[in-house]
Amino acid sequence: MIIILKSGHTQSQLDEVKLIVEKHQCEPILIKGTFKTTVNVLGDDTQIDADLFRQLAGVEEVIRIAAPYRLASRTFKKEDTTINIKGVTYGPGHFVIMGGPCAVESEDQTYRIARAVKKAGANVLRGGAYKPRTSPYAFQGMGEDGLKILRAVSDETGLPVITEALDSKSLEMVYKYGDIIQVGTRNMQNFSLLKEVSKLDKPVMIKRGMSSTIDEWLLAAEYVLAGGNHQVMLCERGIRSFDARYTRNVIDLGAVPVAKALSHLPVVVDPSHGSGRKENVIPMSLASLAVGADSILVDVHDDATKALCDGPQALTPPEFEGLVKKLHRVASALDIKIKG
Ligand code: PEP
Ligand code: MN
Repeated sequence: MIIILKSGHTQSQLDEVKLIVEKHQCEPILIKGTFKTTVNVLGDDTQIDADLFRQLAGVEEVIRIAAPYRLASRTFKKEDTTINIKGVTYGPGHFVIMGGPCAVESEDQTYRIARAVKKAGANVLRGGAYKPRTSPYAFQGMGEDGLKILRAVSDETGLPVITEALDSKSLEMVYKYGDIIQVGTRNMQNFSLLKEVSKLDKPVMIKRGMSSTIDEWLLAAEYVLAGGNHQVMLCERGIRSFDARYTRNVIDLGAVPVAKALSHLPVVVDPSHGSGRKENVIPMSLASLAVGADSILVDVHDDATKALCDGPQALTPPEFEGLVKKLHRVASALDIKIKG
């Protein structure tokens, strides 16, 4: 249950609401928006009579949400959420192109690729400094040194940077150096990490767990929203299926309009991790824009055979440039702006 207070409500009117919530062994979580204050009732609220709140002078509306998630749902917030970061806008009417290496490998490699993606028209730089690898023998990322490189390259190119945090320690570093925090597919249900992210004031992109349902994905977002961070994006990155030979994962493009109907949060697609092979990346990127995604996250490498991570799915800079040109044509047909 969510209780929306009237604007200009008094502290004692808010206290009345809290008292009723607490009397029912639930916890009132206060969410202060730009215009309205909302009380999110945590706990088993099924036994609370909503009219107890409706009759209070300070209450504007009481919403019971049937979906398991609340703050992430369209029932709670009808308008699309817009996220602004250093001049880049995720939200209606915009399409954000994020590109860069899967992993930061060196200062030189990151500068080269960042300049190339910027020239091609990318809006945001991607790059991992902490890599969640299936094998413990695979390259694990450059850690803080990698983040320092990303920060310097981001400042030089003017492209905000998105980078992944794996745990509390790396989250501290990613928060310090990055602009957008990425929670990867393997950590989508790392609830303690989500709670930590929820306390930060930087945007977060939550990748869908490779075997997670749409509800579970939205509940992961709910953790971050409920903790007070409202700058949340969802990212479809492919789910597991029975035939991974040609596509690595199955990009669930059908999940994009579904997530956008169920939720107000921006939806990103990662066609690189989603399809695993570069020949699939361009068609799936165009399809992502056409199906209503707000952004794509694309792996780009200028020497993919030597890439330390995910070379087969990386576009070369010229291929990426070709993709951006095609995206502009699809975007203009859909009246969507791509900045850059
Ligand atoms: C990544 O984007 O670098 C990554 C590891 O992605 P995922 O979590 O989707 O596998
Ligand atoms: Mn990767």
